[in-house]
Amino acid sequence: MNYDWIKTRSNYDEVKAAVIDPGKGTEWSYQDLNIRAENLANYLQDQGIKRGDVVGIFAPNDVAILDMLFASFKMGAVFLPINWRLKPMEIESVISDSGAKLIFYASNHLESLKGIPEQLIHMDIDSPEYDEIVNPEHHRPFKSVDVESDDLASLIYTSGTTGLPKGVMFTYDSFVSNVINTALTYKINSSYSTIISTPMFHVLGFNDLALPLIMAGGTLILHRYFDGGELNELMAKYQPNYLILIPTMYYGMLVADNFDIKNFKNIEFLIQGGSVPLPAVQKKFESMGYTLINGYGLTEAPLAMVNTPHNAIKKPMSIGKPVMYVDMRIVDEDHNDVETGEIGELAVKGKNVTPGYWNKPEETEKSFADGYFLTGDLARKDEEGDVFIINRKKELIITGGENVLPSEVEAVLSEHPLVRQTVVVGYKSLKFGESVSAVVVLQEDDSEFDSKLDEYVRERLAGYKIPKMYLKLDEIPLNSTAKPDRMALQKMMNQKAQAEKQED
Ligand code: ATP
Repeated sequence: MNYDWIKTRSNYDEVKAAVIDPGKGTEWSYQDLNIRAENLANYLQDQGIKRGDVVGIFAPNDVAILDMLFASFKMGAVFLPINWRLKPMEIESVISDSGAKLIFYASNHLESLKGIPEQLIHMDIDSPEYDEIVNPEHHRPFKSVDVESDDLASLIYTSGTTGLPKGVMFTYDSFVSNVINTALTYKINSSYSTIISTPMFHVLGFNDLALPLIMAGGTLILHRYFDGGELNELMAKYQPNYLILIPTMYYGMLVADNFDIKNFKNIEFLIQGGSVPLPAVQKKFESMGYTLINGYGLTEAPLAMVNTPHNAIKKPMSIGKPVMYVDMRIVDEDHNDVETGEIGELAVKGKNVTPGYWNKPEETEKSFADGYFLTGDLARKDEEGDVFIINRKKELIITGGENVLPSEVEAVLSEHPLVRQTVVVGYKSLKFGESVSAVVVLQEDDSEFDSKLDEYVRERLAGYKIPKMYLKLDEIPLNSTAKPDRMALQKMMNQKAQAEKQED
């Protein structure tokens, strides 16, 4: 069968606005989207691209990313969105590992492709030539190719927070199951519009936000690069029905001068995902009458779990229960279920879960137990079955043989009125192997902040959990998917410990 769903959607909603690009001042209907993809599929075929070949795109949020996906689906090629925030070495590794046959790119990102073989760098999506190829006024019809449901449809690389990026495989079935499931879970319909500020190279932006809306026939407003102030402007202009953002992006909106809650008047729901919620941000939205609903997923299982709107008021930090067609377990080191309330590793199984990593059979094998994908996240379930993410397994700090969950220390520190944001990381210690430290962004400057925070945590946490060092920053550095860059923070803390000859 074919997975050419943009064609079907365009039959239903021919003239409706599918995508608006306020930056370029352009708008495309569903029919335009389908014709652009047919034109592009013809072009790719002329370049020798066949079913099963990998085609890459390296661009900020742009309609060209949708063109590439829909053209790939029409011709059975493998769609590869590339994270433009990756470092050159990581980009090279993604392109060579994937075996991409060609890459389309945005002109302002060409510089980052310096190390890539020239013959692969194929076309600038901002060029008149690209516009000419996809131009809906010159329709070149394309007959969609039949594929098998378990053929490879897409490769999406992890952002590499825990090593070099790994290519997560999506079959047609896993890809489309996630999109349908997400649309059903959020009850997305054709009357909805949203602004996409989350990057489209990442599953949160692409698989969980952009595609479910397009499949349902709504209107997608492109925001090229996230910026809190710009997003506030777009909110004022388009007044969308929902948002899906990383918690730091909600924070970015709140702290921009032009934030205005009146622009949320059409909002039906606000989802936050991709990393741990920021309690201060959550409280601020609550005080304005909006609940941020916590959703959980990972490249390997884009939308796996999400809280419900009513439950989110009671348990804002919970990721709720699995979505349809996803099963969940919390397991110990031997992959046995832990008791309710106990911490273990979250494992998921379902139609949207990846079959594994591209070219990495050993990593794939290690990542599954009894058919469940081991997420690497520590979690616990309460009596009502609601799940809470505690930390990534790899973020655990082991100090003098004791395990410290950064999230526990972060939660206590966040309650202090001086703290706007905090990230707790381990640093190398001669005495304890690793010691606990906290990076903080303050609400207002205070020269005695560290002794005040120390006094506060001492009353609330066991001795070994108390940060031995604090570092004040103006903002938390972010990694390639806009999550706190823990590796960079750890490095800063190691340097600080060395400079200050901190030995414990
Ligand atoms: P890596 O490269 O190490 O695989 P990554 O950051 O690229 O990491 P992603 O798939 O982008 O991986 O992110 C998935 C991770 O984000 C989850 O495993 C989890 O740790 C975190 N995460 C996602 N949603 C939430 C949430 N609601 N609460 C807490 N953590 C979350």
